[in-house]
Amino acid sequence: MSKEANIFVLIDALGWEWIKDTRFLGDVAPYRARLESVLGYSTAAIPSILTGQYPQEHGRVALFRRAIGKSPFRRVEWICRLPPALVENSYTRYAVKELTRRINHFDGWFHLLGIPLRLLPMLDICEKSNIYEPRGIPEVPSIFDLLQKRNVDYGVYTYHDGSNVELIARIEQDLRKAEKSFFLLYLDGLDGFLHGNADQPGAVAKVLQFYSNALSSLYGVAASNYQTVRMHVFGDHGMAPTTAVIDVQSRLARMGLRVPEDYFCILDSTMARFWFSSDKARDEIMSRVFGTADGGHWLEEQELRALRSWFEDRRYGDAIYLMPEGTIIVGNSPGEIVSRGMHGFHPTAAHSASAYVSSEDCGKRLGHVTDIFALMAECL
Ligand SMILES: [Zn+2]
Repeated sequence: MSKEANIFVLIDALGWEWIKDTRFLGDVAPYRARLESVLGYSTAAIPSILTGQYPQEHGRVALFRRAIGKSPFRRVEWICRLPPALVENSYTRYAVKELTRRINHFDGWFHLLGIPLRLLPMLDICEKSNIYEPRGIPEVPSIFDLLQKRNVDYGVYTYHDGSNVELIARIEQDLRKAEKSFFLLYLDGLDGFLHGNADQPGAVAKVLQFYSNALSSLYGVAASNYQTVRMHVFGDHGMAPTTAVIDVQSRLARMGLRVPEDYFCILDSTMARFWFSSDKARDEIMSRVFGTADGGHWLEEQELRALRSWFEDRRYGDAIYLMPEGTIIVGNSPGEIVSRGMHGFHPTAAHSASAYVSSEDCGKRLGHVTDIFALMAECL
């Protein structure tokens, strides 16, 4: 029998607000804490968990940023420059994505949802490599670099290898073998479910119960095969129910400014990020697109520095407007499905916090998603 199993489970979008009043995994993980997250999306929060660093250090806030130097999309530029009526369809977008992936040998996670193809040659993506491998986050060392350096026999289970159910079955098999001492299981199913169903608490409770039961059973398997079992379960961010939508694209279209001659922008679900070619475009957009009734605000340098998400080269936008919690940016295409839940609001918003539950009493040392890294590193 091996001595110890340290099991870390990242459940995407395991929000504090969604579990704080429940008995989620209470039978094996009675200790719990609220974790503040970072500015941005999972692209930012998961690297923060894996490295213990903030976006400013690991370089990631949102999937797309402005290309500094050569864009990885330059080889498909000729496709992107064709008339939108010809290329803005799911087939071409898939081809552009796959070509870009192959040409650049990308094995990280990215998609082209919501990004007009004609903007791609000006853009870059931040997740080029599989972040669940050593050197997957080249900017700073991650837990996988430490695991490799210390020759730890570890298991990692992510969407790269199967569905949530398959991953749970795979880690269970490994726990029965009792050879490894460190496990990192990443489950992404709750995130997708909450995006579609955050307005139905009863349905969400059932999905949480599924994960709670599955992890409780894994803990039992581990306890039968190891002398000591430590299980830590946490999210990367929370999920806010959608309360309002805003069609930024239509407002911009009415302004008569030219794209990309005057400006270009990326409209994420919760952030409108602009790059300007002239002061006139900057002034018009910053003074006219959003009003007090929208409830959001422009993220100034001082605030971005405080959130440790400031980039001198403005790779994530010359100006970034952040929506208030619950308000999401939607497109103007007919039949668009509006998400019932979203994340990526201000890190201090109530539903931005993720949850931590554990079999171990870690006291008050955990309060932020970046704190998970030290906890993992201690087990090596
Ligand atoms: Zn999500």
